[in-house]
Amino acid sequence: MIKLEEQAEERALQPSDIKNPICPFCSKEIRKIYMHEVKSYLGRCYFYYCSECLKVLGLSHRKGFWMG
Ligand SMILES: [Zn+2]
Repeated sequence: MIKLEEQAEERALQPSDIKNPICPFCSKEIRKIYMHEVKSYLGRCYFYYCSECLKVLGLSHRKGFWMG
C-alpha cells in the first residue's frame, strides 16, 4: 500500500505532467490569472487577465440574481 502511494506521488511531480496555458499576447506560461471585478448597472462583470502582461484574456458576466 505504501509503495503504491509513493509511486503516485512521484508521477504527479514530473515536470512533463505540468502544463500551464500560454498567454496569446506575451506567449508566456500563465501561472496566475488575475481577476478584476467591475460593477455595472445590471450586475457584475469579471475580467480575467494575464499576470505577466496584464492583457485581458476573457470576461464573464453575472446578471442580477433575479435572472438566475
Ligand atoms: Zn500575457
